[in-house]
Formats: sequence, structure tokens, C-alpha cells
Amino acid sequence: MRVDGTGLLAFCSNDYLGLADHPRVVEAFVAAAHEWGVGSGASHLVSGHCREHHALEEELAAFVRRPRALLFSTGYMANLAVVTALLGRGDRVFEDRLNHASLLDAGLASGARFSRYPHADVGALAARLVRPGTGRAMVVTDGVFSMDGDVAPLRELAAACRAHGASLFVDDAHGLGVLGAMGRGSLEAAGLDAVDVPILMGTLGKAFGTFGAFVAGSHELIETLLQTARTYIYTTALPPAVAAATRASLRAMQDEPWRRERVLQHAARFRREAATLGLRLLESGTPIQPVVLGSEAAAVAASDALRARGLWVPAIRPPTVPAGSARLRITFSAAHADADVDLLVEALARLPATVAQADGA
Ligand SMILES: *Cc1c(COP(=O)(O)O)cnc(C)c1O
Repeated sequence: MRVDGTGLLAFCSNDYLGLADHPRVVEAFVAAAHEWGVGSGASHLVSGHCREHHALEEELAAFVRRPRALLFSTGYMANLAVVTALLGRGDRVFEDRLNHASLLDAGLASGARFSRYPHADVGALAARLVRPGTGRAMVVTDGVFSMDGDVAPLRELAAACRAHGASLFVDDAHGLGVLGAMGRGSLEAAGLDAVDVPILMGTLGKAFGTFGAFVAGSHELIETLLQTARTYIYTTALPPAVAAATRASLRAMQDEPWRRERVLQHAARFRREAATLGLRLLESGTPIQPVVLGSEAAAVAASDALRARGLWVPAIRPPTVPAGSARLRITFSAAHADADVDLLVEALARLPATVAQADGA
């Protein structure tokens, strides 16, 4: 990336597969802009819903093996839609403490009784699920946690939901396109189907390299969202050219499996090399590889020092992450070369503060 005229090697993008500038994706975008114009002009239910949207919804539903999918303009809106359309006063919603902000906001906005359970602690969740309660119960989790890179204990969550009559909603923003033999995400990797996880959300701004989001599930789920979700109804439809570009990126994702193999190889290479430096890494098998440094000052200093060496690695601080766990959030992409990973590790090794801090933490 070029920032203020200086070239930087970036490790901060969620474009995990390098599809944002894939020639076929760019061509599809340009061709569709010529055909449809730039803006959709209206909300989906008025006149903004075009053939490209419809085709993309069908292709996404087929990709994640669910009857239907519904496009949203952003993942934030999709998450608000699901929880507020399905739950209300008298219902209960249970969320992992480290869920994405949009899921937490959705839980609060729904008016349901809101309970956050300790990160990935299915025992603690089950203890809350057995308490008597009224109405519906929904368990909400990230598939891959966006700041830690770990995968939720999805099989155990699905079993707990089955045992206690709760429905499970998974936000797979960081798993789709990356995890699973076919890139269908963290649910494919965990061997879970639409019965285990009736509600799935995916974003298009990450591995798809475009913009927007979708929810996939049963006809009843999709009709309910389409008819009642305010963040679907009262907003301008995604530009059709973005839908067309996403169709091309979905095809590229399937035609070029080397992309997901490569990004995961980069993460593994980084972990091997970083381990020899004594860097404290989190348990993550995904392209998100945080280096937790503790204090905000340490994280910012490390990020600045890397920047001076031409590497862009953002410092992530509270309240985005819990107090005392400020970190460098490193993300890899299929667009990186092996040599880029090596360069990053070398630069981290030259930050004595980073290594010492991590050792002592
Ligand atoms: C990025 C992200 C979102 C929000 O998606 P946008 O399309 O960027 O609004 C939701 N959930 C998770 C886990 C995310 O990482």
C-alpha cells in the first residue's frame, strides 16, 4: 500500500484471499457499472433489487448449502437484523464475551435478556441456558474471533443449543472463504450443517474482497428478515455492480483453491518462525495472528517501529480488546509472498521490547 507517498507492506487487511483486486472481479465490477450504473437507486423492496442481487443470493445459498440467502448492505446491519427481527422482550440472547461489536449491539438493541458468557466457555453457557426463562433463546457467536483469530467451539455450542432448545447464530465473517475443505467456512471445518446452525451470517468485505453481507438459512428465516428486519427494509440496496463483482469473486474462490491454502500456509510459516523468537502467540490456526503485548504504549511503540521499517501492522487497543491485552493484529493474505512473511518475522525479531515484553507476559 502507498501511504502519504511511502510504500508499506501491509499486514492489516481482511482481504485474505487477495480477491479485492483480482482481474476477473474488477472486470465484473466495471462491466456491471456500465450496465446498471453505480448506485442501486432505492432499497431492495422498492426498486433497488436487481437480477445481479438475486443471482448472487442464489449462488451464496448454494455455496453455504442452505435453502436461501438474503443480501445486506453491511455485516453490521445483517447482525442487527437477525437478532432484532427474531428476538424481543421476554426472550433471551447469549453471547460470547469476545463477539464482534455489531453482535453485542444487536443483542442489546433486541430488548431480549442479554447475557455474555466467558470466551468460548460452553460449560458456563450451558449453566446459564438451564436457568428457567421465558420465550425464545438464541446463542450468538463469531465463527472466527476477529481480534484473537481462534475458532469458536462450534460443535460443543451446537450440542448445548440442541440440549437446551436454543437456536445457534454464527457470524462467520472471518471463516468464510478461508476455512473448510471447500472454503465454506468454520461450519464446514467443524462438520456442522444447517440443522446444527440454523442461522449463518457472512460478510463480503473480507475474504470475498468486495463489500456487503448476507444471512443464509431456511425460507422462513429469510422471509421473516425480508418482511420485518428494519436494517434490510430501510436502507439503500447494495450497488448491483458490487453484487456482480462478488459473483466473480465467489467463482474465483472456488476455481482457485490455492488462495486459501496459501494464506493458511503463511499463517503456519509465521507461527513456526515466531515461535523460535519466543513471541507469545495466541492459539490461532487462521490468517489472524495477534501478538499480545499488554500495554497500549508497548503496542503503539511496536507498531511505530515496524512502520519505520516499511511494515504496516496496526496496534489494537482497548476498548476493541480487553484492558491489558493491547496487541499487534497481524493478518495474512494470499497476496503475500513467503518473503513478505520472513521480512515481518525479521522485523519483529529486531524489536527487543516486543520479544522481552512477550516473554515476561
Ligand atoms: C467485519 C465484521 C462484521 C461487520 O461487517 P461489515 O460488513 O464490515 O459491516 C461483523 N462481524 C464480524 C465478526 C466482523 O469481523
